Amino acid sequence: MQALGNKEIPDFIVKSTLGVSLTSFVLLAPFAILNFLEYRYIIGIAIVVILSFCSINIWLGLKNKYDNGINLLGAFILTVSTIVALYERGVTGSYWGLLAVFSFYFVLSQKQARIVNLLFLSFVIPTAWHILDQTIAIRFCAVLIGTSLFALISTREIYKQHYLLIEQSTTDSLTALYNRSLLQSSLENAIHQSYRSNTPMAILMLDIDDFKIINDQFGHDGGDTVLKESGVFLNTFFRSSDIVFRIGGEEFLALIYNTDEAGAINVANKLRKEFEQLPLIPNHAVTLSIGVASLQQNMDWKQWMKQGDTNLYKAKDNGRNQVVA
Ligand code: GH3
Ligand code: MG
Ligand code: MG
Repeated sequence: MQALGNKEIPDFIVKSTLGVSLTSFVLLAPFAILNFLEYRYIIGIAIVVILSFCSINIWLGLKNKYDNGINLLGAFILTVSTIVALYERGVTGSYWGLLAVFSFYFVLSQKQARIVNLLFLSFVIPTAWHILDQTIAIRFCAVLIGTSLFALISTREIYKQHYLLIEQSTTDSLTALYNRSLLQSSLENAIHQSYRSNTPMAILMLDIDDFKIINDQFGHDGGDTVLKESGVFLNTFFRSSDIVFRIGGEEFLALIYNTDEAGAINVANKLRKEFEQLPLIPNHAVTLSIGVASLQQNMDWKQWMKQGDTNLYKAKDNGRNQVVA
């Protein structure tokens, strides 16, 4: 099944990029003026360039937008500026390197930040070694490496918690399938993709037949076991490009990519037959009714689901354990 919600640039990086850019702008702007007043034009210009990157990020961030290219280029400019500051100002210029390292982890993706940090260290450490007195260089490099590691460790935990939270909030704990939270956006994405690349899409609305009777006969725990096993089966039955949601008690929706109506009916029939054979409850066949809805032109996600629902109810009305398209 498709993995949802794991964007390479998570939302918190979009937000922290704005915060880091605003803070950097406020901190650096006085130094740009100071350096020009004291005729240090190279450093002054370097700071103005960094301020421009901050301004673009602030402008984008206020509109909740993010540009990865801008931030990668910004990280390159920061690395060059740190080396310039070391050459021009020695110890006085070295302090900014610590902030630069920290900023990488809050404006770039996790992977990019690590690579950029490594490149930064491999250029800045030899420069510091060359420019600063040995006693100062040793301490500067130790603090620089320490800052890099602290930033890496803390952001690694933030990412872990972030993805765990996404998983918990989008997954149904009983069946391990997706819950409804990403249903609308997934259907809308599929509709856009279908219009863009002219690929057919379909949904299957599934509902376990007479589930109330299963609960009555085998208890709520027995019913839960059936739902859990059904989740395991549905997860393995569909292709890796498909997405399966638990949309209600014993109701599921499978979004199947790149499949026209005839293909979707085939999948639904195969699914219905295999499901019936599952040893979910001893000596008791559990069956599924399935409504198939292929995406038609100009349908929105609600109309698409409604079509699936209507067909599911027809399957129920016709006597259950069948597919209606
Ligand atoms: P139909 O064939 O028309 O679908 O009949 P049904 O009995 O399956 O449908 P109905 O919607 O009347 O009943 C569904 C039942 O599913 C009612 C509800 O108590 C039960 N149910 C909903 N969620 C859960 C759950 O998480 N665990 C268990 N064990 N039962 C649940
Ligand atoms: Mg049912
Ligand atoms: Mg139902």
